[in-house]
Amino acid sequence: MASKNNIDVRSDHLITSTDPEHPANLICTLCRNFYNLGWVTGTGGGTSIVKNSHIFIAPSGVQKELMQPENIFVMDRRTHAYVRKPTSLKPSACTPLFLAAFEKGAGCCIHTHSQWAVLVTLLVEKAAEQNGKSSANSCFEIEMIEQIKGIPKGKNKPGMLGYFDRLRVPIIENTAHEEDLTQSLEEAMARYPDTYAVLVRRHGVYVWGDDVAKAKTQTESLDYIFRLAVEMRTLGLPWTKEETSQGTKNTQEDITLDQTINGTPISKRGRPKRSSDNLEEADGESPKRRKPGRAKKSLQAEGDNKSNQANQPGSLRSEGQNRVTALNGEKGGATQVTGKKGQGRLKQEIDRDDEALALANMTQVGRRRPGRPRKTL
Ligand SMILES: [Zn+2]
Repeated sequence: MASKNNIDVRSDHLITSTDPEHPANLICTLCRNFYNLGWVTGTGGGTSIVKNSHIFIAPSGVQKELMQPENIFVMDRRTHAYVRKPTSLKPSACTPLFLAAFEKGAGCCIHTHSQWAVLVTLLVEKAAEQNGKSSANSCFEIEMIEQIKGIPKGKNKPGMLGYFDRLRVPIIENTAHEEDLTQSLEEAMARYPDTYAVLVRRHGVYVWGDDVAKAKTQTESLDYIFRLAVEMRTLGLPWTKEETSQGTKNTQEDITLDQTINGTPISKRGRPKRSSDNLEEADGESPKRRKPGRAKKSLQAEGDNKSNQANQPGSLRSEGQNRVTALNGEKGGATQVTGKKGQGRLKQEIDRDDEALALANMTQVGRRRPGRPRKTL
């Protein structure tokens, strides 16, 4: 019937079905949804499904939200020869990477260009640089996040990761041509035999699962975790216990300082203790002595040095502050300033001279890491 280079039109029966669960229909449905999530923008990304003796693959260069079943390539699972190849389209450059996942027993592989995945790879790279380490063969690690339970323990290991387990997703370096990623993807799979995903620096992520539903939900869980991780880093919150003990211990100091401000009614203290005192306790330096270009300086500059702008509802800074305040509340802290109302009360209670310093103190969580690129996120 068909060979690798000789496509028989009769192969159209391979992609023709009224069953929405048929791989040719399912790939189109999934890609439409992925497009709406920003995962396959501008024809990027792709999806492939194995069913029985065939592999169904989304084509290259097609708007993923407009894809139709007749656009789907079909390959023989055993020989990897195309048994259906739309003449007007190119096979996906992701194909060898999908095949690598199928060699590991996957039933479906999803490739996204999610911005959260890209940002996580950049944050891991930056952390390695700051620690004087190479980012080669690096790995994204996170623990104690509920959504980690959405990722299986590993091939041939029953069950899913637990809340206290550490999720590790290896990162490989991008290449000029997608198919050239195959070798490093396979090496990452060998280094991390339990992984169901590999991040590609400045590019995206490949996620696979035993079947379509698992690949899809695992991709969703990972994207949720990547996004959370980026936002955690924006707030200076650690991903792992080691980070907490190494430097992000400051985060706890920040929270304590935040509670000191929020938990002690400033009106009862008379003229409030200058917040610069607290800053000196945390940093060993006064904000007035802080060198230009330091993170805090740039934070203050975000509002064109109009610190009162940051207290306006909806500002980035007040949004971040609310998040931290909410975290304090969850920890049972005696948080008094919550949300816009509380901020408004606080604003009335402190005089204008102290306002900028108090705000800087409360928002320290957001500038913890030296050189942390808050503004670029
Ligand atoms: Zn890609």
